[in-house]
Amino acid sequence: RPLLDVRGLSVSYHRRGKGTPAIRDVSLDIRPGETVALVGESGSGKSTLGRAVLGLTPATRGTILFDGQDVTHAGGARRRELSKSVQAVFQDPNGSLNPALTVGQTLAEPLLVHSRDERSVVLERIREVLALVGLPGEAAERYPRQFSGGQRQRIAIARALVMSPRLIVCDEPVSALDLSVQAQVLNLFTTLQRETGVSYLFISHDLAVVRHLAQRIVVLYRGDVVEKGTTEEVYADA
Ligand code: ADP
Ligand code: ADP
Repeated sequence: RPLLDVRGLSVSYHRRGKGTPAIRDVSLDIRPGETVALVGESGSGKSTLGRAVLGLTPATRGTILFDGQDVTHAGGARRRELSKSVQAVFQDPNGSLNPALTVGQTLAEPLLVHSRDERSVVLERIREVLALVGLPGEAAERYPRQFSGGQRQRIAIARALVMSPRLIVCDEPVSALDLSVQAQVLNLFTTLQRETGVSYLFISHDLAVVRHLAQRIVVLYRGDVVEKGTTEEVYADA
């Protein structure tokens, strides 16, 4: 069965009592270990869908199933539990990194919230995720400002990986990076998928970015799904 199954999802933002639909009747599914790309021009509703999957924006209609369970309106303890399995990487890594905390402290945070692991176990997991994203163990002692933009995005990815999530919503995760760095970070996503089996909902305004990453592509235009298929199919039509 799919890991993520979004069915007939609509999201409206309410302004002065009037609902403005940002996405309308969107359906898509992601299988375990798969990357599904969500592409479309700016304002087409990609982030809205990503935020709905993350439980950050409420659905107006439709359902979101995660691993067979209806999580559309999950809140409280249920949502916290879900946050272990579904993580996010955004365009700006600074949003996920507290400048006052060392990288090690940032990476330890979810472990301390969700488990009672001993200090040595936490430190080992931090070393492990830093290695996964290609950073040395010493990075744990330093502060976000001591890293380049690409390295900061690697740290944000490490933060997303700490709890071994099954799905990561990646919302324009390379758009703010230099072109040469973009390629490295895209390769990192591919490697991580191979090594951990994680699935991605990969949001990008740029079809070229997802070409070598996604198995399937969903195209949004002004809130509607206008195309859906394998990467080969969508490229053949582009
Ligand atoms: P329906 O929504 O009509 O039930 P499906 O979603 O089962 O149809 O599949 C219709 C087409 O869309 C198929 O070619 C399938 O490969 C493709 N498809 C289904 N789910 C996705 C997805 N998550 N991403 C991209 N393409 C998809
Ligand atoms: P994309 O990620 O494809 O650029 P968004 O999901 O950010 O698209 O936006 C889709 C539509 O919803 C746009 O018209 C945008 O202006 C609107 N929108 C996004 N966020 C909000 C919000 N918090 N309140 C009201 N409208 C919003």
